[in-house]
Amino acid sequence: MLAAETDILRGKLKEVFGYSQFRGTQEAIIQNILNKHNTFVIMPTGAGKSLCYQLPSLVADGLAVVISPLIALMKNQVDQMNAFGINAQFLNSTLSKSEITRVKKECLNGSIKLLYVAPESLTKPENVDFLKKVDIAFVAVDEAHCISEWGHDFRPEYRRIKEIIAQIGDLPIIALTATATPKVQLDIQKNLNMEGANLFKSSFNRTNLFYEVRQKRHAKKQLIQFLKEHKGKSGIIYCLSRKKVEEIAEMLNVNGFNAAPYHAGLEAGIREKNQDGFLNEDIDIVVATIAFGMGIDKPDVRFVVHYDVPKSLEGYYQETGRAGRDGLEGHCLMFYSHNDINKLEKFNKDKPVQERENSRVLLQEMSFYAESPVCRRKQLLHYFGEEYMQDNCGGCDNCVNPKDKYEGKDYVHKAIDAALQTGERFGLNHLVHVLRGISNQYTQSYSHDKLQIFGQGDNEDEEFWKSVIRQTLIYEY
Ligand code: ADP
Ligand code: ZN
Repeated sequence: MLAAETDILRGKLKEVFGYSQFRGTQEAIIQNILNKHNTFVIMPTGAGKSLCYQLPSLVADGLAVVISPLIALMKNQVDQMNAFGINAQFLNSTLSKSEITRVKKECLNGSIKLLYVAPESLTKPENVDFLKKVDIAFVAVDEAHCISEWGHDFRPEYRRIKEIIAQIGDLPIIALTATATPKVQLDIQKNLNMEGANLFKSSFNRTNLFYEVRQKRHAKKQLIQFLKEHKGKSGIIYCLSRKKVEEIAEMLNVNGFNAAPYHAGLEAGIREKNQDGFLNEDIDIVVATIAFGMGIDKPDVRFVVHYDVPKSLEGYYQETGRAGRDGLEGHCLMFYSHNDINKLEKFNKDKPVQERENSRVLLQEMSFYAESPVCRRKQLLHYFGEEYMQDNCGGCDNCVNPKDKYEGKDYVHKAIDAALQTGERFGLNHLVHVLRGISNQYTQSYSHDKLQIFGQGDNEDEEFWKSVIRQTLIYEY
């Protein structure tokens, strides 16, 4: 791009948005889409993805179609753009007939710069026909992980986007997501047919966050202990069920904490009141299901606790990412028990086979993370396809209190011996019985109670051995 055009972009940034500098690779991304190249943007939440399609829409010929998953998100952005003096509108089911007519007219006469649509509206034949007549500069697919069945909020309607865009015209696409796993990335690129797109991926390392996993034993007591150390600070506690959310919020209030519940089952008015209370500092702690957080930009959240195990590392990363957005400290604590994983697997029982298998893999990755002695930061970044080279991050439990390596090796050897000596044909529970020297019908009938390894691990409990075996022999068990 020419220097003069660079000046135009910087001028718009200042004049319209009030920012004096681009962040990270924003400028290169904007130039790329203005040059009509397919563009794939992977940046953590809060990094400034929206600007990457908002700003170029102001200087391009034609408008930008923005595909967005939620009416609430669209409305937020439209209000924000209008406040900046930009004509942005959405086209969705909340509009009246006359409003639709007005929006369409403004699209045709070129006064709208950004048109937001949900995939459901985009795919309607009458809208496809209409969009063929509009002068469109490019299409932005926001929250593009929704396309992927490996993304945390998969939406099947998203899978038709490419086919619809192709009907509308030969348009460059900018896809944006905060989901960086290589699996999701490939899935999105394949689905949008943009394998050749220029990729802009920024680091996912949140250096100010401390990651910690604690074995869940007396969870309520453990939680209160932790909260006492963070009294008066702002934080979020995630639970898996609505019932648990209510129960924990109440328990915290009884114990003198200033907490409120948030989940999709609450009346809209109460949800709003609790959310606003949290944003205005009237409420210290929100106890919530994962329904809470999307689009919430509270900079000074000092801790995020997962009272129950999250369903995927991806979700875990997004949820913990709400801590410390101001760059100051954020403590991310997860309570983990393998029982929780088992419970979650049972919930999945009635899902279609493929979906169940996907969920199982995600849970397995989750439990591997929680049980591993390796640096949490290294593991998380590895999951997002990024190598973390430092030996000690200084910002996770495993780095600050390393588990004894020699001891670990010894246990691993015992687990492997148990598997080998029993002919590598037995399941987790049986191996645990052999290691702990439990004489029962099965160990006796296979004469496994005569093996050298039998009872060699009787100093450790059942959960401990299950964890060692799962980590050592992850693929089989
Ligand atoms: P994302 O979509 O990546 O989660 P947003 O687009 O919501 O992030 O941006 C996060 C915040 O950063 C917003 O408040 C936005 O106005 C701000 N922001 C974006 N770009 C810049 C910039 N170049 N300089 C300063 N602030 C910016
Ligand atoms: Zn670490």
